[in-house]
Amino acid sequence: MKIYDFNERLKDSILIADGAMGSMLHEAVGFERCFDELNSTEPEAVFRIHQAYIEAGAQIIETNTFGANRFKLAPLGLAEEVQRFNSRGVKIAREARESAAREVLIAGSIGPLGLGVQSRHPSPEEIQEIFHEQALALEERGVDFFILETFSYIEELLLAIDAIRSFSGLPIVAQLTYAEEGTTYGDVRPSDAAAQLKNKNVQVIGANCTLGPQALLPILEELAAVDGLRVSGMPNAGFPKREGDRIVYPRSSPEYFALFAREAAALGVRILGGCCGTTPAHIRAMAEAVKLLRPSKTHPAWKSIRPRASRSIASSSRSTRSWPRRKWMPSTSTAEPWPASAWTR
Ligand SMILES: [Zn+2]
Repeated sequence: MKIYDFNERLKDSILIADGAMGSMLHEAVGFERCFDELNSTEPEAVFRIHQAYIEAGAQIIETNTFGANRFKLAPLGLAEEVQRFNSRGVKIAREARESAAREVLIAGSIGPLGLGVQSRHPSPEEIQEIFHEQALALEERGVDFFILETFSYIEELLLAIDAIRSFSGLPIVAQLTYAEEGTTYGDVRPSDAAAQLKNKNVQVIGANCTLGPQALLPILEELAAVDGLRVSGMPNAGFPKREGDRIVYPRSSPEYFALFAREAAALGVRILGGCCGTTPAHIRAMAEAVKLLRPSKTHPAWKSIRPRASRSIASSSRSTRSWPRRKWMPSTSTAEPWPASAWTR
């Protein structure tokens, strides 16, 4: 898809993206060492999830390739499967699209390398090569655009963007994930992230995962206040808990996501979807909620059409609990648990 056409599509409309893939696969096939591998071993399960999201109203589906990069696959002995997993991922998404009665866009999902939990940190050049390999495989098989998501560090996100832009003219949606205090784990505020990303030829800048709908709204509000920026938001269903081997998500109700969608639309957000723990029911509720809405254009006029304060989920005070500060490419000797390690898509 051409950047011009993508921009035109977002000019006056809100697009609904799909919800979680990983947590849905977790429920469908149980514990798996690698969700990306399922593109080869359980394509039907992946196909059915795409189909359920399309039926729920998703206009964008994301390939099941969030972790399909050489760095993440290598410890599993799957480093040579990058091409195959990404190619299969796009193939399955295209098959799901073909079975749909309307137009659906396919976003090639690329997640971070997960450097915090790995024992070795590659150089910036190596990082770019890793993203280049994955993105090329996705583009060759026919994605419409790229979505970079759940990045905790803007430096890594910038390397991924440069890797894509070294060969590709497809649109890019670039999403960081933020902690409770409103900064990334690398301590970057949304407005600072926007300033760094603005001149990078990315078409949409957003936030996803980690926080849940309520706490994501102030992040989106800050992004939407930046002139000329198109914004996306894909909250998870709330903070996951570990129960034995399983990661269990709280059940934020679809109605709650509908309320989030209306508030985000009023902020001017152009792409709305869900992250970990969300289901087709959440996407259906969001699609219904914004069906007749057009994106707000004149920030901060949104204040006048916000829901009453008593119903507003954005108005609750943000937690002041602070997260430990983390540096880009932290030392390998850290024994601390990595808070972002549970986040995926
Ligand atoms: Zn997520």
